[in-house]
Amino acid sequence: MSGMRKHLGYFRQAMVDMNRFMPFLLWGKLLTSIAEGVLQVWQPVLTAEIFQLAAELDGGNIIIFKRKNIYLCICIAFPAVCTMLLRAVGLYGEGRKEGTYGWNMYGYARRLRLEALEEAKVLDGFRKADAAYSRHLAASRMFSYLLMDVESALVCVSTFFVVGSFSLWLLPGAVLGVLPHLLIDVLNEKRRSGTYREQSGKRRRLRYLWQLFCTKEPVKEMRTMGFAGFLKEKWVGANVEVVREMEELELKAIRLSAAGVMLKNLSYVANVAIALLLMVRGGLAVGQFAACLTAFGLLQDNLSMLSEYVARFLQSWHHVEEYYDFFRAETEKEGEEDYRPFQREVELRGVHYRYPGGDRDALDGVDLTIRKGEHVVIVGVNGSGKTTLSKVLTGAYEVCSGGVYYDGRDIAGIRKSGLYRDVSLVPQDFVHYHFSLRENICISDFTRREDEERIRGVVQAVGIQELVQGLGGLDAQLGREFGGSELSGGEWQKVAIARGLFRDSGLILLDEPTSALDPLVEYEILTGFLKLIQGKTSVIISHRVGICRHADKVVVMKAGKVVECGGHEELVRAGGEYARIWGEQAKWY
Ligand code: ADP
Repeated sequence: MSGMRKHLGYFRQAMVDMNRFMPFLLWGKLLTSIAEGVLQVWQPVLTAEIFQLAAELDGGNIIIFKRKNIYLCICIAFPAVCTMLLRAVGLYGEGRKEGTYGWNMYGYARRLRLEALEEAKVLDGFRKADAAYSRHLAASRMFSYLLMDVESALVCVSTFFVVGSFSLWLLPGAVLGVLPHLLIDVLNEKRRSGTYREQSGKRRRLRYLWQLFCTKEPVKEMRTMGFAGFLKEKWVGANVEVVREMEELELKAIRLSAAGVMLKNLSYVANVAIALLLMVRGGLAVGQFAACLTAFGLLQDNLSMLSEYVARFLQSWHHVEEYYDFFRAETEKEGEEDYRPFQREVELRGVHYRYPGGDRDALDGVDLTIRKGEHVVIVGVNGSGKTTLSKVLTGAYEVCSGGVYYDGRDIAGIRKSGLYRDVSLVPQDFVHYHFSLRENICISDFTRREDEERIRGVVQAVGIQELVQGLGGLDAQLGREFGGSELSGGEWQKVAIARGLFRDSGLILLDEPTSALDPLVEYEILTGFLKLIQGKTSVIISHRVGICRHADKVVVMKAGKVVECGGHEELVRAGGEYARIWGEQAKWY
């Protein structure tokens, strides 16, 4: 998309969103801005007339004189009344604005291609869009500043005409006082946002380092391992670099602005002198001279406002761009066919997968068949591709070549929303929800949150009955942040498995969900899990082999390839990679 088209597109989108979410604010601001602009320009004209009437006052024109004075009062009071009204409406709109722009993001986050979340650029876009809407209230601010700019610009231009109509000699000084100052401010702001953009990588790093100082786990580790000094050094280094660049930029900006301000003030003095000279020589009436003084004052005020609002507009525009840029990240492709729960098997045929920006395949030609009702365990050392396999299997990541087939139907053509409903994946990096224990379990199928029997079943299967009792029941709040109880790493893992089990899906995947537990507890939980899901298809990913004896099929992965596949006994007898790992770990069981 070309730069201009992109800007116009975003502007249109911002206006459409405002019209949808806050029409009263949009139209109210627009109408009052026009009225304010017109009244401000009328002010010098009225002033000239009033002064002229005052000079020639007699009984006949006293009524006109009074009326003009009332008009002048209205001209002066109207903007203040409008500002108060709009502020009140704005306050009312604020709450709605927060929600509605958030809904845009929520809707998009639901459709975002999951793989895109592996890209630093997309994650950064997420954060920026969030800041743009929650902190900077980008679109509505941009629109307000734009209107203020247009209003001030209109007043400036109309004032030129009014002043020019008195005498053309007054025009050059008026224009010279306004234009350079304005251009300098625009230039400074453009440089500022350009530098911000160039620094975005450095700023991201700075934010990351700063986060380490304010997040629980890194702070704990920093204190116990004693590397606070190292982190500080890194943060200071990154900060100095960013600050130095900004300082250089601001120094240049201050020099330029100072020149602009000097020119503006000089032109004001020169304008007054020229007007005085014209009046003395009879080229201007007294009333016109008084009107000129009002007009020059208006010009000065509006110019200051124009410069300030142009700068603020450009800043808000920068956030508007960041907000709408986020919506350009790729959304998930929905297949054409409805998902039908598989009846025979799920198959991977010659699957290759490489992460965005990666330099080698994480899956390197994987062939695998998982039959309905089978319990499969995937083992292999770290980095062998087990997690990636689970993502590809569930359609979360699209293969680079080869294919994934559910009962022979290519997953690429199947509607993902249906497929996800039939899959339950407990990932390695599951979330500790600071909700109640019940919600932590039932979040995977919220419609059944009152199904006590089902909840009891999963609680028993993962062995957290005592935990539930200790906490005083399922409705106990978890997580310290909201005054709840904190669980141990292993307990959180059990809750995450309970969540995966609670969802009534055809295919259940557990990706190393028991790594924080000791091998024997892990063994107990996984065997309980297998009992509970009799008849369903399951895939357990683990680097421990204890559970493999209970699996229908063991898949051994190495460097992105399936190197062995078969039953436990069969693979032990074969004396290959699996037998080696089993031999090393057998002492644990
Ligand atoms: P495992 O689950 O067996 O530990 P993974 O499937 O997580 O292995 O990783 C397989 C390979 O893919 C590894 O070489 C890893 O470095 C790489 N990888 C994993 N996640 C990403 C990512 N987000 N971006 C780039 N490469 C990744």
